[in-house]
Amino acid sequence: MSHQDVENIHIICTDPRIQKFYHDWLEQNNLWGKFDTIKHENPILSFLDPKSKDIYLERIGNYIKLHNPKKIILIDHTNCGAYNLYGYNFTDLENELSIHHVNNKKVVDLIAQSYPNFKFEIKTIIIGANDECHWL
Ligand SMILES: [Zn+2]
Repeated sequence: MSHQDVENIHIICTDPRIQKFYHDWLEQNNLWGKFDTIKHENPILSFLDPKSKDIYLERIGNYIKLHNPKKIILIDHTNCGAYNLYGYNFTDLENELSIHHVNNKKVVDLIAQSYPNFKFEIKTIIIGANDECHWL
């Protein structure tokens, strides 16, 4: 059985409000068939959770064996319900973005410790008052 190489691993939340925005971005950049995905309620936080981080690091190892990706893209978003589940409370958008920034950097550092050859990109989707989305 042969497997096709991909360029990237996308790490992205399942939040329904970002799905069409993400889909449109995939379309606009001709990305179909070129990525692996780790996708559930904010998987960025799963890498920071001592109970689950090894499982997620192992998944990245599996993707390397299967599809040889070169870059990991963390696709983060604001107003994330998973952050609420993990007990985060933000005072305002600036506070929210600064804490997300710290967490995203921790995840990049964690993955890089195990897999130092990856390039990383962090993208943030801002969800507005009427659930409209735009990139930070
Ligand atoms: Zn989310």
